[in-house]
Amino acid sequence: MATINDNYLKLKAGYLFPEIARRVNAFAEANPNAEIIRLGIGDVTEPLPEACRMAMIDAVEEMGHRTTFKGYGPEQGYAWLREKIAANDFQAWGCEVDASEIFISDGSKCDCGNILDIFGDDNTIAVTDPVYPVYVDTNVMAGHTGDTNDKGEYGGLVYLPITADNHFTATLPTEKVDLIYLCFPNNPTGAVATREHLQAWVDYARSHGSIIFFDAAYEAFITEPAIPRSIYEIAGARECAIEFRSFSKNAGFTGTRCAFTVVPKTLTAKAADGSEVELWKLWNRRQSTKFNGVSYIVQRGAEAVYSSAGQAQTKSLISFYMENARIIREQLTAAGLAVYGGVNAPYVWVKTPAGLSSWDFFDKLLSTCNVVGTPGSGFGAAGEGYFRISAFNSRKNVEAAMQRITATFKA
Ligand SMILES: *Cc1c(COP(=O)(O)O)cnc(C)c1O
Repeated sequence: MATINDNYLKLKAGYLFPEIARRVNAFAEANPNAEIIRLGIGDVTEPLPEACRMAMIDAVEEMGHRTTFKGYGPEQGYAWLREKIAANDFQAWGCEVDASEIFISDGSKCDCGNILDIFGDDNTIAVTDPVYPVYVDTNVMAGHTGDTNDKGEYGGLVYLPITADNHFTATLPTEKVDLIYLCFPNNPTGAVATREHLQAWVDYARSHGSIIFFDAAYEAFITEPAIPRSIYEIAGARECAIEFRSFSKNAGFTGTRCAFTVVPKTLTAKAADGSEVELWKLWNRRQSTKFNGVSYIVQRGAEAVYSSAGQAQTKSLISFYMENARIIREQLTAAGLAVYGGVNAPYVWVKTPAGLSSWDFFDKLLSTCNVVGTPGSGFGAAGEGYFRISAFNSRKNVEAAMQRITATFKA
C-alpha cells in the first residue's frame, strides 16, 4: 500500500475557526432572535476598487480576440506589473529592489509555505507566539518539527513570545536560529516594528547567516510615517531577507488572488558542500517548475492598483477600515479594556478583563453582546488572555458591536 507523509498526522486538527463556528452555531440555535455580529473575520468585506474591476473587464475583452489573446504568461509575472511594484512599493520608499527580484504569485499564504522548498531540512526555525498559523503548519508538513507538547508547541521550533511586556515585538533569541518569520504590521496583535527593532533583527541575521521571512501583507495599513514599510528600508536587509506582499488586504484581492515575493539577487545560503548559492536562482527554478503564473486578467487588475484612480480608491478603502479600527480602539478603551494595535493594522488586540481566559471572554462576549471575536490563545500559548477584534466589517456592524460592548463592560 502507498504510504503518506506522516508529518501531516502531527498537525493539530484545525481547531480555532471550527471551534468558533461550533460555539456560534450552538448559541444561534439556542437564541434564534439574537443578531450576531462577527468581528472575528480575517477577510476583507468591502468590494474591489473600481479601477481594478475595470482593468479586469478590459483584460477579459482582450482575451476574446485572437490578436490580443494571451496564453501562458511568464512564470515570474508580467514585467509591466513587476516594474510598477518595484517603482511604487520599493524605489519610491528608498528601497533598492529591482523588478527582476519580484515574483508574482497567487497568494502570500502559498508563498510563505512554498518558500521552504528551497531551504534545507536541518535549519533551526523561529516563530513568534502568537503567530499566523501558516508559518508553523507548513514547517510541520515539511517534517521540520516534532510532536506538540501540552501547550500545543511543536518540538524543534523556537517560539519567541510577544506580549505587552515587549510591545508585541519579539526579543531576539539568545541561540542561533537559521530561519526567522516576522510579520509586521502583525496579525494577530496589530503591532508594528520600529526601524531600530528591524535593524536589530537584520544585524542578528547577518551575524548568524540567518534568513528573515518578512510578511508585510498589512503594509498599506501603516499610518505612522516613522514605521518602516519594507524590510528593505533597513540597511543590510538585501543580504538576509525575503519579503512577502499581497494585494489581498490593501486592494481587497482575497477572492481575486494576487501577491508577490521579493528575493534579492544578493541573498545566498549554504549548500551541503559548503558553497554559497543564490536563493533567487533556486526560487526562480522552483516557480518555473511548479507554478505557471497568475492569470493575465488578475495581473491587469493588480496593475490598476498603481494607477492614480487605483491609488485613490485603495487609500480610501484602507481609511475606511482604519476608521473602523479607531472606533473599536476608542470604544473598547472607554469600556475600560486595555487595547493594543489598531493604529497601523486592521486588528485590535484586547487584554481580556478580570483575568478571563481567551475562550471565557469569547463566551462572555457572545452571550452578553452577541459579538464574535477570535480568542488569542488560538494563535499560540502566549496569546492566552488576549482577544483579536477585526476592523474588516461594515461601519454599521462595528458601531452596533461597540455600543453593545460599552453598554456591558462600562457598567
Ligand atoms: C491575509 C494574510 C496574508 C495574505 O495572504 P494571501 O494568500 O495573499 O491572501 C499573508 N499573511 C498574513 C499574516 C495574512 O494575515
